[in-house]
Amino acid sequence: METTSLTAINALILEDQPDDIDLVLYELERQGIILNWRHAANEPDFVKLLNPELDVILADFNLPQFSALRALELMQARGLEIPFIVVTGSISEEIAVECIKRGAADYLLKDRLSRLGTAILQALRERRLNLEKRHAEAALRDSEMKFKTLFSESLDVILIINSESGVVLDVNKSLLRSLGYPPHQLVGKYYTALIPDSTIDSEGELLTMVRNHGALYDSREFLRADGTTCPMDITATVIPWGTGTAVVATLRDITERRQVEEARQTAEILQAQLEHEKVLNELKSRFVSMVSHEYRTPLSTIMTSSELLLNYSDRMDEEQKSRYFTQIQQSVKNMILLMDEVLTIEKLNIEQAPFEPREIDLTTFCNGVVDEINFNHQDDSNIEFSVQGTPTTVKLDESLLRQILTNLLSNAVKYSPGGSKVLFSLKWDSDRVVITITDRGIGIPADDQKRMFEPFHRARNVSDISGTGLGLSIAKRAVELHGGTIGFQSAEGVGTTFVVILPVAGEEAPEA
Ligand code: ATP
Ligand code: MG
Repeated sequence: METTSLTAINALILEDQPDDIDLVLYELERQGIILNWRHAANEPDFVKLLNPELDVILADFNLPQFSALRALELMQARGLEIPFIVVTGSISEEIAVECIKRGAADYLLKDRLSRLGTAILQALRERRLNLEKRHAEAALRDSEMKFKTLFSESLDVILIINSESGVVLDVNKSLLRSLGYPPHQLVGKYYTALIPDSTIDSEGELLTMVRNHGALYDSREFLRADGTTCPMDITATVIPWGTGTAVVATLRDITERRQVEEARQTAEILQAQLEHEKVLNELKSRFVSMVSHEYRTPLSTIMTSSELLLNYSDRMDEEQKSRYFTQIQQSVKNMILLMDEVLTIEKLNIEQAPFEPREIDLTTFCNGVVDEINFNHQDDSNIEFSVQGTPTTVKLDESLLRQILTNLLSNAVKYSPGGSKVLFSLKWDSDRVVITITDRGIGIPADDQKRMFEPFHRARNVSDISGTGLGLSIAKRAVELHGGTIGFQSAEGVGTTFVVILPVAGEEAPEA
């Protein structure tokens, strides 16, 4: 018997016979139960002593002006749920049943009080279990209510979908606001009713994805009731549902966000187009001024020379005639050169620029280029070529490499006083080759330096040295196609050093 744990049980004894009270107390004490008791013999006393702190009421069935059933009624009317045990001298079966029916916990005969202790403990246990159950039920109702509110008031569309069949089990009212369907229209249907035809999901691929990965985050188009589509963010996860699982999917309308993004993108594109247009316009005007300047000189030379030949050839000796023909030829050559440069830059600037690396002997190749420059610049050129480190086999695009070296070397010669030394060095590192070209020429003014690789840009100190301003932009593009870098250091009136670094790592070893 659970007696030791119960120190004192608050009891109200409804009884008019003091001997009977003693009997009850004695019997309970014998059973190890101590009561902290008060006693009432009539209705007013009973009512006065009624309070929620009571653990049990032991009531005699028959009192002179009061009864157990009336007492039970009074207790219930006050909303109290105190275990109520009827203890009586004699009772019929029907009355006993009636007591239980009306809410008494138990009934006992006074001459069978040996069961009283157990009856009290049992009644207390039942009350405790009852209270616990009610607490649990209240907590459940509370959480259900919270979930319901959350579900129904959420601004996002929340769908609960059978994870096997794809049938919609429930959906909140945001469906109407976001997509225009009353929720009941979708419940019981396949969720694919929300997927536009253009993105057919008849296989339920969304559902499969969620099932396979446990969760899904995506942005997709969903179908509105009016047939238009709505861009939405979707997040979905698998949750336990009843005895199986369901997929809970949340859809959020991102139309506005999309519009803002699109507007921003359009603005960016327009801005970029504007910038591009500006650059193009500037290039065009630079091109026009270059052409008019660079073509005018050879054209007027051709004009003059041919006029002289036409009108006065009969008065010229062979040497004079040959001089004018040579001038015409040289002018034409210059114009062809200029045209070639323009065509080259055009060709290299397209995305699919030709890049055909082949194995070459770089030292021999450089020597060849130096010879060409020397030949073209005759007495002016004084290039000193040197090689450091151990040459390895490299794969480079010959024609691009020629553009790089010819442009840098001819600049170094052209923008230096006649005959002054130009140092041209090749330095082999493990994974790259460093090409350095140094002159002691006119240098590049600091103001011009950051625009040197722009097409048609020429520094303000070139005076009458001819040029189109295309060589460096061609060289830069050719270096970039090799995955290399180009840079320079220069001081006006002191000289210039250009450095080109070409990667040579990862090249296959030459075949035996
Ligand atoms: P071209 O297209 O015929 O080569 P260019 O020599 O004027 O004409 P780039 O080779 O592109 O054109 O060079 C651009 C400008 O850079 C030159 O006009 C010159 O002002 C400056 N520059 C280039 N190299 C040197 C150098 N070594 N020393 C001084 N200035 C230089
Ligand atoms: Mg040049």
